[in-house]
Amino acid sequence: MSLFAKFQPLMQDRHNLLGQGIDPFGAPIEEIYSATEARINGRRTILAGTNNYLGLTFDAASLSAAHAALDELGTGTTGSRMANGSFAGHRALEQEIAAFYGCAQAIVFTTGYQANLAVISGLTNNEDAILIDADSHASIYDGCRLSGADILRFRHNNPEDLDRRLRRLGARATTTLVIIEGIYSMLGDKARIREIIEVKNTHGAMLLVDEAHSLGVLGERGRGLVEEAGVIDDADFIAGTFSKSLASTGGYCVSNHPQLELIRYASRPYIFTASPCPSVIASTRAALQRVAHGGDLRARLWRHARRLYQHLLDAGYTLGPEPCPVIAALLDTREQALALWRGLHEHGVYVNLIFPPATPDGKSLVRISVSAAHTDEQIDKICAAFSALAPDYR
Ligand code: PMP
Repeated sequence: MSLFAKFQPLMQDRHNLLGQGIDPFGAPIEEIYSATEARINGRRTILAGTNNYLGLTFDAASLSAAHAALDELGTGTTGSRMANGSFAGHRALEQEIAAFYGCAQAIVFTTGYQANLAVISGLTNNEDAILIDADSHASIYDGCRLSGADILRFRHNNPEDLDRRLRRLGARATTTLVIIEGIYSMLGDKARIREIIEVKNTHGAMLLVDEAHSLGVLGERGRGLVEEAGVIDDADFIAGTFSKSLASTGGYCVSNHPQLELIRYASRPYIFTASPCPSVIASTRAALQRVAHGGDLRARLWRHARRLYQHLLDAGYTLGPEPCPVIAALLDTREQALALWRGLHEHGVYVNLIFPPATPDGKSLVRISVSAAHTDEQIDKICAAFSALAPDYR
């Protein structure tokens, strides 16, 4: 026996399934041509699985802000804010995100994963309960585990089930944190947020909304589902990531509760990791301005998303419940999904392949993320590739 014995089944499984072809879980991106094109495994490929919703990875203002910060402030912060202090950019970005939402408080984290870990484990402990949507992202599950709180799940996007479970908790409901996502990362469906807010208010619970996939995508100013639904002030905590619409890395949480500030002193994932690099902060600040004035990009993004969703539906694919820049084709088996993924790669289209347990209902997914930077011709090509492969996957 050795520590490695546990990897044997995983190794066998990977060997059997993936064989000799290109590994979809480590696709070699050999050269980047633009926000929507790269050379992958020797082939010029349209990127349709990179969460680059607004296509800002080569935005001129973000690039020049990052270059300037790199020259002025260096490549890294080399430590945590608690130990090494906060750069002016960290504080400025926090003020700008708070102002963007019209909220009193904001904290910036090094990744979105870490934002969830920090906020969830900072807010709750082993005396509390957390009620999460069953389709929650792994970072939410991991934050719950780190907190030591009782973790309960409610049926995906089901306020009635949430209501039942909060009622069952009785007086404990007032020390319960409910967690949902604005747009769910796998199927691209939106949370029934107004009803969920009504339910959490009835029981006196608190709500954290993870807007990772909806920041920049929903709302007139791109503030996500909370803006689209007109409930910014009803969500206790709004978290998100810089790694999708903002085209960098990092995460954030905003709130009107002054206690958010205390997370800095009570949360290990904030205290014990290095703060974001100055260039990352600088490009994020520039991208946030573009997002806030990005109605033109959102209109393009949604035009592409609706067109692609309808095309795939007409071609016979089984999709998530509503048109969205996240479009998932649901396949019954991993083999089918892998074959579709490889077929798309051969047609010069890169998407995501996702297997259970990261997926709802044990399905395998081929997941597209649409970008405002896609051209109409690129969307045509993605449509054509899915059509050519459709007969095998209906
Ligand atoms: N929350 C959700 C819903 C996500 O989908 C992701 C990333 N895919 C994260 C949080 C983590 O964000 P990051 O990539 O910045 O760590």
